Amino acid sequence: MKTCSGLVQPLPVAMTRVLKLFLITMLVAASVFAAQKRAQAHESSPQYVDLAGWGRTNSFRIVWNSNGRDFMLTNRSWRLAFTVNSRQAEINGVKAWLSFPVIARGTNASIALLDIQKLIRPLLTPARNNSQRKVTLVALDPGHGGKDKGVETAGCQEKTHTLLLARRLQSLLESAGLKVVLTRSSDVFVELDDRVALAKRRRADIFVSLHYNSDGNGRGDAKGVECYCVTPAGAKSTNTRPDDNATTKAVPGNNNDSRNVLLAYLVQKAMVTGLDVEDRGVRRARFLVLRDATMPAILIEGGFMSAPDERRRLVGLERRRDLAQAIADGILDYKRLVERQ
Ligand SMILES: [Zn+2]
Repeated sequence: MKTCSGLVQPLPVAMTRVLKLFLITMLVAASVFAAQKRAQAHESSPQYVDLAGWGRTNSFRIVWNSNGRDFMLTNRSWRLAFTVNSRQAEINGVKAWLSFPVIARGTNASIALLDIQKLIRPLLTPARNNSQRKVTLVALDPGHGGKDKGVETAGCQEKTHTLLLARRLQSLLESAGLKVVLTRSSDVFVELDDRVALAKRRRADIFVSLHYNSDGNGRGDAKGVECYCVTPAGAKSTNTRPDDNATTKAVPGNNNDSRNVLLAYLVQKAMVTGLDVEDRGVRRARFLVLRDATMPAILIEGGFMSAPDERRRLVGLERRRDLAQAIADGILDYKRLVERQ
């Protein structure tokens, strides 16, 4: 401190302490900021794999579209379509969202290793249950109920239609020899964690949550079906904004990553091939019922109640019957695949 006499005086003890405290606080803040930056950098720059090399090893050939952005890896059984700088992919014609965009330098395209491990590989070489582990009990979870109406539009409530869909699906699955447990069988409110707890208690082999969608913006122009499974650790969920720094840590549902995505893909495939609907793809989310499920789990959005023409169809008997049949077909495809010897 400089006095008006120009002499440098020692700082009072209390002020020295304040200064020290201030410096320590600044240092701690700087190191926390640096750690956050490092975490963000790690998240935004995952390990990438050269697709040409991966394709050769796995008997694929790459075919580029003349637009220089779209390309395909094809072999006798599979057609994997990608777009440079995009997270959207198509696997045998069914849309699936990658965790990270495909990147390219010229015609050298690369894909995140996480997407190979958590999407491509589980579909190309599906998991197989051991011979004692059959898929026999399905937990069906009609979304919402009681005081929680879900989407409400033009006199239609989501909770009513998820229950009607669940009952129809239950009868189809039971006719196919499966057992079904419903997380609710009437118009009652059930907490999300109680839904998962019931499935665990009853030792369900898979968990299937049923919902209808809303675009939430009042425009009513979004249409189509989606199937969610839990987001892999280290990735952001499909609908997360880029600036959202929600945690990407592993959750219990990640123990079933391979089976989650296989079930989601097969149900999405059955819906988009069995119905005349828009394919909004296999997506990732950390919804509580997916996050905490201890068995393979998916959440289906069976169409948009906010789109007037789609709503008219999906509240009708014919669409409900067809949608239930498609979901049942997807579940039975999954059962066949994981039980194969
Ligand atoms: Zn819902």
